[in-house]
Amino acid sequence: MYWKKLSHEQIKETVFKSIEENLDYRGEHPILGIPGTYLDTTEFYPDAPFLKDAPYMSAMVSNPNHIGVHTLSEESVLEVFQGTQKIERALIKLVAEEIFNGNPGEQDGYVATGGTEANIEAMWIYRNFFIKEYEARIGEIAVVYSEDSHYSMPKGANILNLSSIILKVDPESREILWAALGEQITKARNEGVKFFIVIANLSTTMFGSVDDIDMLGDYFSNQNVPFKIHVDAAYGGFIYPFTNPTSRFTFQNPYLSSITADGHKMLQTPYGTGLFLVRKGLIEYVKTEEAQYIPGKDYTISGSRSGANAISMWMILQIHGSEGWKYKMESLCDKTERICKKLEGMSVVYFRNPHLNIIAIEAQYISKKLAHKYQLVADSYEFDPKWFKIVVMPHVKQGTVDTFLMEVEAELKGSKIG
Ligand SMILES: *Cc1c(COP(=O)(O)O)cnc(C)c1O
Repeated sequence: MYWKKLSHEQIKETVFKSIEENLDYRGEHPILGIPGTYLDTTEFYPDAPFLKDAPYMSAMVSNPNHIGVHTLSEESVLEVFQGTQKIERALIKLVAEEIFNGNPGEQDGYVATGGTEANIEAMWIYRNFFIKEYEARIGEIAVVYSEDSHYSMPKGANILNLSSIILKVDPESREILWAALGEQITKARNEGVKFFIVIANLSTTMFGSVDDIDMLGDYFSNQNVPFKIHVDAAYGGFIYPFTNPTSRFTFQNPYLSSITADGHKMLQTPYGTGLFLVRKGLIEYVKTEEAQYIPGKDYTISGSRSGANAISMWMILQIHGSEGWKYKMESLCDKTERICKKLEGMSVVYFRNPHLNIIAIEAQYISKKLAHKYQLVADSYEFDPKWFKIVVMPHVKQGTVDTFLMEVEAELKGSKIG
């Protein structure tokens, strides 16, 4: 993994050049047929002086539409926005090839609205793949995911009319229980399920637990059933590959077919930046032929989407370079490690994957009052919580951590547990 960092000036130049390569709604070239235009000028006036130094804001104001998928051909989907579409293409290439180690030119992708859309896009592709290639009936296809998975899995299964097989995990290690998996899959097969859309978490939201993609792949291979694995790295996609040099979540792993990696979680980009990456040859299964007015057709769930979102992701990756981003993510892990050591000193039971910045603490060690004061998130707001989690994000100050830990210690000393 390597890409060089760029200076702010270099980034500015590239982004402005890409905006100029788009046809400008204000420019000389006539644009009579597009149902889009620049942002309303009463509020978003284009001669605001700061815009000259603000490439992302300039992209927002010029308002390019990145409808469609831009990695399928070097030709632009909508010629009007060909300049900024090139940045999206470069972004997909960078993330797929440098961060997830894909072979050059062998991945497609787009900037979805978020992890939810990217996960559902994956399920949609594989559902259609099984229908087209195996003449599967809807009732024969199931989505398989652990009970710690994000709620976009049941949401997607519901929208796509698929059944769910929800895998049990060990209450301590949060690992998928393999014996239970065998029983659940056997039961589903006896009930007529023949095709499996398998989700592997590259970190669950609640625990930061990471599923064993190879165990999942080996299991379904040995069963000799058609399956596809999608990796939900909405949370971990921009941290784990940098903190674990031997990550198995790369396109070199034949079990992996697609990945969700949100910009708006660890990459600190604006909301609306959920990256979807997929091996070439698969996204065609969700081609909407009826997208008559889009020259390149549409393959996404979202339709129209802002080109500024792709630009924001590209800019952040470029300003840091791979070494800079690695340093930043490793620093977050170091900070997390330090908190864990303190918790151990107080004999507090917690779960943490060493490559991630999430600590799930057993709820008995923390009062609800303290959890509320520090905005810790509980595993359940419906039932009594079993866990509270800390996420060591870039805004988390050491001082805040220190006072929190002191308060935990004081509470424990005053109770029976400590
Ligand atoms: C946040 C998250 C999602 C959903 O992402 P949105 O961007 O909120 O749609 C899916 N999976 C995991 C693991 C997440 O952390």
